[in-house]
Amino acid sequence: MVYFIGAGPGDVDLITVKGRKLLQEADVVVYAGSLVSTEHLNFCKEDVEFYDSSSMNLDEITQVIYNAYKKGKKVVRLHTGDPTIYGAILEQMRELDKLNIPYEVVPGVSSFTASCARIKREFTVPDVTQTVILTRISGRTYVPEEEDLEGLAAHKSSMAIFLSVHDIDRVVEKLKRGYKDENVPCAVVYKATWQDEKVIIGTLKDIAEKVKEKNIKKTAQILVGYFLDDCGTYSKLYDKKFSHEFRDAL
Ligand code: SAH
Repeated sequence: MVYFIGAGPGDVDLITVKGRKLLQEADVVVYAGSLVSTEHLNFCKEDVEFYDSSSMNLDEITQVIYNAYKKGKKVVRLHTGDPTIYGAILEQMRELDKLNIPYEVVPGVSSFTASCARIKREFTVPDVTQTVILTRISGRTYVPEEEDLEGLAAHKSSMAIFLSVHDIDRVVEKLKRGYKDENVPCAVVYKATWQDEKVIIGTLKDIAEKVKEKNIKKTAQILVGYFLDDCGTYSKLYDKKFSHEFRDAL
């Protein structure tokens, strides 16, 4: 069996209990070395085989997994955050399908929720927004025109923008046009939950400058939206005058 596992955003204890257990039992681990902390490997067996996928192509990764599987070994493919978000796991699963190799996907804590936790906010604030958009700016990877940042920003939902901080000027430009407001709060979280984490708080007016001052060019979440303001609204869930399935109203 092959397990695609979400390693979490950085802090090694943010992997799931299931993920850690499988990692401890693995004979072969292929990990995304550019973003997965190598500290995870300390939990593996002594004779485990490691492969850093950052310098491997799809064929090489598939070959390693295939060879291990044929020998009856337990393989862990360790991805950063949650593997289903910008994890490029679909193509790997397709290759395994072709080879009739069974696999399971174990979810993880994505960097977008980890970043929101670090700044102690909630993406879905009552009376502000009930929607979270996960997206990225186009670059070498094409983003469909309908999903251009400007159009998405016009919804005024909470946004978590991946893979884009290197192009912060263009991001801000598009967001300003979409929100039609320069005072939209914005937070950039660099390496959320790592030792060298950095948090920058601002608005669309000044965030680009602040990001450049701190020389942040990668591994950051750009969180945008009015959810970042603490607007003091309350939910129905804990409202004493509101009843629901588990609680009666006063
Ligand atoms: N599957 C991952 C995302 C991989 S794409 C997840 O669920 O988080 C890589 C992008 O994720 C980076 O460019 C950055 O935008 C974001 N990212 C990954 N780890 C991060 C972290 N610890 N802090 C902030 N952003 C992070």
